[in-house]
Amino acid sequence: MGLNRKLRRKQQNQEKKLMKKAVKKMSERMSMIGDSCSNCGIPLDKSNLQQLETWKVYQNHTGVHIVCPACQIEIEELKKQIIEAEEEEGSIVNT
Ligand SMILES: [Zn+2]
Repeated sequence: MGLNRKLRRKQQNQEKKLMKKAVKKMSERMSMIGDSCSNCGIPLDKSNLQQLETWKVYQNHTGVHIVCPACQIEIEELKKQIIEAEEEEGSIVNT
């Protein structure tokens, strides 16, 4: 008569296993991205969901980097300056 119970127990175990796997995967990813801004080095509070949402994750050949909101603006500005400088240079060469 204990067959149903046994089956249910088996299912629960399976679910637990999957949960454990998912948690492990997530924490692995978390440890991979580090815990501070790649640009300025301020620490990221991984338990703070709001921070997790506003920080940006970049991936390149050197690995995965996280950048705080302030540095995201800085990087965007820098990119703009580089593009503008290139455009200026281009116009000088063309004329
Ligand atoms: Zn930063």
